[in-house]
Amino acid sequence: MAVATRWTVTHSCGHEAEHDLTARPADRRASYARWLCARDCTDCWRAERDANRGAERTAWLATRRAEEQEASAAWSAQYRMPPLSGPQAILDWGERTRHQLMTAAYKVLVVEGELTDEQWQQAEDRARTVDRAGWWIDQREAEAADLPELLDAATDADRITENPF
Ligand SMILES: [Zn+2]
Repeated sequence: MAVATRWTVTHSCGHEAEHDLTARPADRRASYARWLCARDCTDCWRAERDANRGAERTAWLATRRAEEQEASAAWSAQYRMPPLSGPQAILDWGERTRHQLMTAAYKVLVVEGELTDEQWQQAEDRARTVDRAGWWIDQREAEAADLPELLDAATDADRITENPF
């Protein structure tokens, strides 16, 4: 009687699968089948692996975001940009957006453009008065070159309010 080549294995995930063990020497098939039993089936193994990749990517994004946040906070301090106001959940996002927009506008308008340092200072001064996080987030897809015009259009509701405490 020949040793079976097709083995039905119940994997650790609970799924049953038939395995063709022809490629394994006859005297190794039983131990290989036991080894398979201790493992998830291929579908579950793939799903687990993909989930791990997703988690790795999420962790990578969180790291990137933390780095951006650190750079934005350093920038805010360097240029004396005031803390933003608004719901706690969007403050960091607002700060990152302000940093990105302001540095992009400076590059386009001053480094590559015609804006004088004095004109840029004016734009920066205006930016310091717009402290509503939601305002910055609303402009996140704006052309950086339009920033001075957008800052001019900001209303009192977007401007700094004295902290009553
Ligand atoms: Zn499975």
